[in-house]
Amino acid sequence: MTRHYSLLSLIKEGFANQKGWKPAWRSPEPKSKYDAIIIGGGGHGLATAYYLAKNHGITNVAVIEKGWLGGGNTGRNTTTIRSNYFYPESAALYERSLQLYEGLSKDLNYNVMFSQRGVLTMVHSKGEMEIAARLVNAMQINGIDSELLDVEACKKIVPLYDFSANSRFQVLGGVWQGRAGVARHDAVAWGYARAADRLGVDIIQNCEVTEFLIEGGRCRGVMTSKGPIRSDKVSLSVAGNSSQMAAKAGFRLPVISYTLQACVSEPVKPILDTVVLAPATATYVSQSDKGELVIGGGIDRVPSYAQRGNLPALEVVLSGLMEMFPTVGQLKLMRQWGGVVDVTPDSSPIMGESPLPGLYLNCGWGTGGFKSIPVGGEMTAYMMANGKHHDLTRPFDLDRFQTGRLIDEAAGSGIAH
Ligand SMILES: Cc1cc2nc3c(=O)[nH]c(=O)nc-3n(C[C@H](O)[C@H](O)[C@H](O)COP(=O)(O)OP(=O)(O)OC[C@H]3O[C@@H](n4cnc5c(N)ncnc54)[C@H](O)[C@@H]3O)c2cc1C
Repeated sequence: MTRHYSLLSLIKEGFANQKGWKPAWRSPEPKSKYDAIIIGGGGHGLATAYYLAKNHGITNVAVIEKGWLGGGNTGRNTTTIRSNYFYPESAALYERSLQLYEGLSKDLNYNVMFSQRGVLTMVHSKGEMEIAARLVNAMQINGIDSELLDVEACKKIVPLYDFSANSRFQVLGGVWQGRAGVARHDAVAWGYARAADRLGVDIIQNCEVTEFLIEGGRCRGVMTSKGPIRSDKVSLSVAGNSSQMAAKAGFRLPVISYTLQACVSEPVKPILDTVVLAPATATYVSQSDKGELVIGGGIDRVPSYAQRGNLPALEVVLSGLMEMFPTVGQLKLMRQWGGVVDVTPDSSPIMGESPLPGLYLNCGWGTGGFKSIPVGGEMTAYMMANGKHHDLTRPFDLDRFQTGRLIDEAAGSGIAH
């Protein structure tokens, strides 16, 4: 059976009618006890399992997923990856993630199609330009490759954009991160799943965690639709379901769940080789490798667990797209969908041990947690293995909502994806 992907194995399998490939991961029945359990088979949960095994040698691990791998937000997002955040704590965290993405395909032996095509955020007024200059200065001090561009430089990057004098939102410049980009969302989930499985992790799909096993004031495992599974270390990576799961564990999280939507056009030849955000229109767009325009906007501001799109949000996003790229108005829309995102009051994640000892939190990534999958996994694995924070995650502990040391990225960088 062939496991490793390489030119040699491709040639070998080509001669063997592709019959020798091993399934990317096994489908084992759960054991009664593990050294660590991860709830949620999205990117964060699968990455946690991989780094537990790879970095800490903890391989007796189960990832428990109520549906299918990547069926949550990991398989529903628009895949923007960048590290140009305002606060030093965020910049350090997201930059670590970007660095991990840069080597991820090689590390996982799986092509996650990470394309560093750059992210350009348009600036539309003199006031915004002043703030953009301050942001870029702060980002550069944090060591992030962020640049302030004038309108001529923006035109070179996205010639198709409406820079005409008649456009509703005149562009005065832009904020650019050249190392930012996009990756293939399900490849990230599958790559981590395959690599974790190879290291011995059990990935258990179609198995819902319904309760926590709590003994002596500690989390001792979970009750699932396939029965009880015990472990003294459990982590929660369930995105939009975080507050519901916290309630089962007996505490409240400062998280509100919203629907975030996106859509794609029919595929066309390459017209856009970067990611463009326009805060004035609340819309952003990139072009997938298949040629589809991937279009997204802000959250639907009604708290909800609806995992589907709706027409009012679509209207807002598409009218924004028309302000940016009037020439794509004739394209057909192929699909629209929604995911449930977990938004905190300061738009930063919550990481660390929860009020229930033995239960670790990796949640609150809201609308921006695809870019942080590698670091979310790496840091959660560190916490589970060592029982304490890594320096990178200490500022993101739940206790910041008591101490008041918030990391308000909504106010800081003001952009969400
Ligand atoms: C439309 C949209 C666009 C986005 N765009 C971007 C973007 O451009 N860039 C970016 O960085 N981020 C983006 N995001 C956010 C990003 O997708 C998420 O922050 C990220 O995917 C969260 O990953 P996760 O692994 O924590 O959660 P998920 O991928 O949602 O995985 C959680 C898993 O937990 C499972 N689960 C839940 N409850 C249980 C239970 N009781 N038992 C067992 N399993 C359970 C779910 O089925 C799910 O598979 C976007 C999100 C959406 C919806």
